[in-house]
Amino acid sequence: MSAPLLDQLIEALRVLPGVGQKTAQRMAYHLLEREREGGEKLSSLLAQAMERIGHCAQCRDFSESELCATCANNSRERSQLCVVESPADRLAIENATGFRGVYFVLQGRLSPLDGIGPRELGLELLGQRLDAGEITEMIIATSATVEGEATAHYLAQLARARQVRPSRLAQGLPLGGELEFVDRGTLSHAFGTRSEVRE
Ligand SMILES: [Zn+2]
Repeated sequence: MSAPLLDQLIEALRVLPGVGQKTAQRMAYHLLEREREGGEKLSSLLAQAMERIGHCAQCRDFSESELCATCANNSRERSQLCVVESPADRLAIENATGFRGVYFVLQGRLSPLDGIGPRELGLELLGQRLDAGEITEMIIATSATVEGEATAHYLAQLARARQVRPSRLAQGLPLGGELEFVDRGTLSHAFGTRSEVRE
């Protein structure tokens, strides 16, 4: 016999980041007791999102269609490519800066101990985009973490090997900080004063 539905629901909610047993219980009780309508909407949207949201074929950001809105937008500057770790970082840069180029979303950062290598970050696809010859500058906007720095170093080599100029956001970003939590002014300044990565 399988576990009661309520127990299964609580267990399933624990898939969310930062949600432990207690919080999952509270969420389940809340939905059942006070938020049936919201719960049904959530369940339907969750099912649709899991089925229909994939990755953009060019930048790997989330997208319902083959190309995301940014990649499909012909007025974006195709010679500048900004590489970020996550969709949230992409959004932070888009909101904080006047960047009009295109993006590549790694969906992570190099972390050999967690089994995240070049393959998991789609670097083959990134290499193909650089090979296409349209891109002249690759702006590396990985986080100021140890793994983010290692990823930046790897990306700079990838770019140089293809005669693409790698640049990095200026120092001044809080160490260990994820871009999405950096305030707008700081991010905008770091982006605007980026400099070429030297070997
Ligand atoms: Zn895209």
